[in-house]
Amino acid sequence: MEIRKNDTFTIDITGMTHEGQGVGRIENFTVFVDGAVEGETADIRIIKITKSYAAGKLIRLVKTAPARTRPFCGVYGRCGGCSLQHIDYEAQLKFKTGVVREAVKRIGKLEDVVVHETIGMSRALNYRNKAQFPVGFSGDAPVIGFYASRSHSIINSDICGIQDEKSDRIREVVRKFLIDNSVSVYDEVTGKGLVRHVMTRTGFKTGEVMVVVVINGSSLPSGQQLVDSLCREVPDIRSIILNINTKNTNVVLGERNKVLYGNDTITDYIGKFKFEISPLSFFQVNPVQTEVLYGKALEYAQLSGSETVFDLYCGIGTIALFLSEKSKKVYGVEVVEDAVRDAKRNARINNVENAEFIAGEAEVVVPGIYRQGVRADVVVVDPPRKGCDERLLETLVKMDPSRILYVSCNPSTLARDLNYLAANGYRAVEIQPVDMFPHTGHVETVVRLDRKHS
Ligand code: SAH
Repeated sequence: MEIRKNDTFTIDITGMTHEGQGVGRIENFTVFVDGAVEGETADIRIIKITKSYAAGKLIRLVKTAPARTRPFCGVYGRCGGCSLQHIDYEAQLKFKTGVVREAVKRIGKLEDVVVHETIGMSRALNYRNKAQFPVGFSGDAPVIGFYASRSHSIINSDICGIQDEKSDRIREVVRKFLIDNSVSVYDEVTGKGLVRHVMTRTGFKTGEVMVVVVINGSSLPSGQQLVDSLCREVPDIRSIILNINTKNTNVVLGERNKVLYGNDTITDYIGKFKFEISPLSFFQVNPVQTEVLYGKALEYAQLSGSETVFDLYCGIGTIALFLSEKSKKVYGVEVVEDAVRDAKRNARINNVENAEFIAGEAEVVVPGIYRQGVRADVVVVDPPRKGCDERLLETLVKMDPSRILYVSCNPSTLARDLNYLAANGYRAVEIQPVDMFPHTGHVETVVRLDRKHS
């Protein structure tokens, strides 16, 4: 059968992609449908067609899955943020467990590893401590919202149900400031205009708030007015920063910051540890689930107090400090220099004396210190989405630690790296997915790997 754009079909949704799109078939041809759930039957219209697959738009549900629920957000389906809001929370957790199990089996080729059920949140709303709003315009009016799915058009909105509520108040104040002062907003196409992004960060335990205004220029006209309004309208503002980004790229933050008001960091706690967080440093976005995740890592590490531990891709040293109490010595390695500076300071603030932090790429630093004779008993890796560089994994295998903990935000690259480690002497024993990103297709996991020989 020939399938053409705008043709309509009634199809059964027989699977889901990792991002939560429904998958169906027209004869042997695969069709992806946003917003459709496994088990449903739907009328769809073909909106895109390639050699190997088609994309369909959901027109009407003929049969509804029991897992379907009503999305809580007014811009659901237009905003690219939450692709699973139409699935009830329990079913979301099952879906995520399935994604991890599938990856481990299909990509990792591991058969005997236990993948536990995903640990969810008791209240899966307003869980994010960081928002990054793109700023643009619609007609003449500035808009501050989120990108639409697979696009850079900005969906203006006032409320985001997964963000800390203060971030909504902040963007309202900034929007008003832009209008009242006729401040220009950035246009990606021409590279002209001033204000590009507004980033907000909140300390969940301290309440402290940081606002970062990213600009394509070196100063913000009437900046003092913005400071005054934010301090008046939003409680607990501790830091207002101008971030300078004049490059015409998709990278949100530039390298240079200017303090407009208050401190250059805010403070928050994970467990009993206190952290100072800079605008450019990575800090976990869901502090409640981070504690769950780190707790699991600590449990899996089975430390006795005599071990040397590596925390690779350490950010501002959060995992390192968590593990420091039960180890002899902890080394943290991180590529962002600001984060390493924060990590050192965080160790000092928390009176941790057995942690050392090194700036650089893990795949370069670790082979270097290995050559100098440094050895680890337990290694934690927590890489970005692309996973670990093979040069790092090679060195770890040579170093021969008794245990490796792999913390990952991407099941596919995790599974790839577990496959490498399995072939080189490390058995994945247990995998615990943790839901750090409710209502989105993302899932975090921690894996315990033991050395096969004793
Ligand atoms: N473990 C930390 C941070 C994890 S996010 C936490 O739980 O908060 C991943 C971190 O890896 C980021 O801080 C990023 O800057 C860093 N990173 C990315 N590539 C790296 C590399 N090649 N070597 C070391 N760190 C890297």
